[in-house]
Amino acid sequence: MTGRQISRRTLIEQGMRLGGFALAAMATVQTASAADKLCADPKAMDGGQLGIRESLNYVEKSPEAAKTCGNCAFFQAAGDGCGTCMIFTGPANAGGHCDSWSAKD
Ligand code: SF4
Repeated sequence: MTGRQISRRTLIEQGMRLGGFALAAMATVQTASAADKLCADPKAMDGGQLGIRESLNYVEKSPEAAKTCGNCAFFQAAGDGCGTCMIFTGPANAGGHCDSWSAKD
């Protein structure tokens, strides 16, 4: 085995280690962003949208695991963890909740 072959092997092994580290780091970032996903950004809403959400105590993360927008009759999923609330006619988080929650039939 020559020095050049060893050098290639070392390079490949180190590249694989770095690749594994990069994948692990990306998975951590993706997990954190999914858990903290903001679907209904208050900065992107007008006063009417904010008012109805506030009056119905909308939150992006439901305090009751069994009662989320994702299993509410008024939720239309968009497939990315977000969707549209028919009550608000605007964005809602599949993990969110408000006082108008109603079980799907
Ligand atoms: S009515 Fe409330 S719980 Fe139901 S989808 Fe809209 S925001 Fe979510």
